[in-house]
Amino acid sequence: MSFSNTGKVWTVSGFAQYLNGIKAPTWAKSVCLHHTAAPSLNQRPDGFLAKHLENLKDYYSNQLGWRSAPHLFIDDDQVWGMTPLTVTGIHASSFNRTALGIEVLGDYDNEDPKKGRGFECWKTAAAATKILLDWLKLPVNDKTVLFHRDDPRTTKTCPGTKVQKPWVIDLIKDFKYSSNPPPTLAPSFAPLAPILKLKGYSDGDIKKGLKSANGKIFWREKWLETAYYDKTAGATMISLAEIDSIQKSC
Ligand SMILES: [Zn+2]
Repeated sequence: MSFSNTGKVWTVSGFAQYLNGIKAPTWAKSVCLHHTAAPSLNQRPDGFLAKHLENLKDYYSNQLGWRSAPHLFIDDDQVWGMTPLTVTGIHASSFNRTALGIEVLGDYDNEDPKKGRGFECWKTAAAATKILLDWLKLPVNDKTVLFHRDDPRTTKTCPGTKVQKPWVIDLIKDFKYSSNPPPTLAPSFAPLAPILKLKGYSDGDIKKGLKSANGKIFWREKWLETAYYDKTAGATMISLAEIDSIQKSC
């Protein structure tokens, strides 16, 4: 079940930093935008709270029985995680295998995306989309920026009749990184075993604690999101950004 980013939340610049530590998936060729419709902006006067994301996760996993969900949920000024960005999500049947899914808070059949909180949400969504496309090394165009309603298998108006593609594409192109120079979005990796040894673990500890299953690597039952086996190096690699989390949790 791929919901392990539920509980993570970033500002726009924090989100770019987060991706800086993660290897971009090769299957992702686009970003697909949705609106939540229900809840609307009116129903979430303070944007999302952590409990809302927990409820959404429960809805997708337990009520619908899905193996994964949309990748991100966007409100006025924050980016909330759900399905890890390296794993395919479930959000638009024709696009699940090739698109990252983003849900924008609001009902844009009825609420205004170009004013007030609606505009704040769409600016945040545009920023997250640009950061994702840069991470994936993809351009911004109508092939890489999809709407749910572009899917021939849906009759939905998602992300809302008041949202038009050229307007969103302009908003995405307008996004500027606040840091100067912008983050490289190129992760740095190091071999995991020598790092664990430096932290005081013996060869025996490492052999016992390090497991792989379904293409994922675990250290003492915790999934190492950025870890992968590098055949050329003959070693398990991990992003420098994730190394700190090992220190904290062990
Ligand atoms: Zn949708």
